[in-house]
Amino acid sequence: MTQRINAAILLALATSAAWAQSAEPTDPKATEQWEPVPRTVTPGKQDSAPPSDAIVLFDGHDLSQWEASKDQSPARWKVHDGVATVDKATGNIQTKRHFRNYQLHLEWRVPKDITGEGQARGNSGLFLASTGPGDEGYEIQILDSYNNKTYVNGQAASIYKQSPPLVNAMRPPGEWQTYDVVWTAPVFAADGTLKSPGYVTLFHNGVLVQNHTQLAGETFYIGKPKYKPYADAAIKLQAHGDPSAAISFRNIWVRPLD
Ligand code: MG
Repeated sequence: MTQRINAAILLALATSAAWAQSAEPTDPKATEQWEPVPRTVTPGKQDSAPPSDAIVLFDGHDLSQWEASKDQSPARWKVHDGVATVDKATGNIQTKRHFRNYQLHLEWRVPKDITGEGQARGNSGLFLASTGPGDEGYEIQILDSYNNKTYVNGQAASIYKQSPPLVNAMRPPGEWQTYDVVWTAPVFAADGTLKSPGYVTLFHNGVLVQNHTQLAGETFYIGKPKYKPYADAAIKLQAHGDPSAAISFRNIWVRPLD
């Protein structure tokens, strides 16, 4: 008798959980986390020239390794003085090559005269695997997080809306920031079900900020992360529509690990 009641309770719980999951989320705030705030660490100086076996994705001269995400036309972000600057009008760019597991190095800079606050202060992003023409994929946030309060799972070096950085290793606006990433891509079975999740290890300015962080799926602005099967994918940089000044990039290289 008790067993039958327990079974009935379990069934009721499962049914209500399934119903709750199927309701469409509408509030972006529902997935924001504000506490605890990662403590601040001052990074040291470092040199990050590409190693001999790296594929250089941007060496300061041209964006020949990149294309527009929306239509695969040539990438039209402005290259000047050895750096590439986001062009918000032409949108996200992505590598022509596709990758699975890799080590990536990338340097980015917030303009010294940046204005705005929260998510509207130098917003860009590094998508580890681009699975669509827009902001689909797995985003490591790029943002001015030097004295700029926002939800902590949306600050620089967070896995956006999933995992805050362990610490805040941000340099001030106008200085170059480095990201060194180890990306372990998710694995999917032939029927599309998830066999093993994706993992991210990230160093921001040489400081460990994501330590083999397990991902719950692709990044969503609204609603919880979820997986969508893919085999290999481009690496994408975000042209976010926030009205503040645009982020610049330099010295981008990748070492495939397959
Ligand atoms: Mg972003």
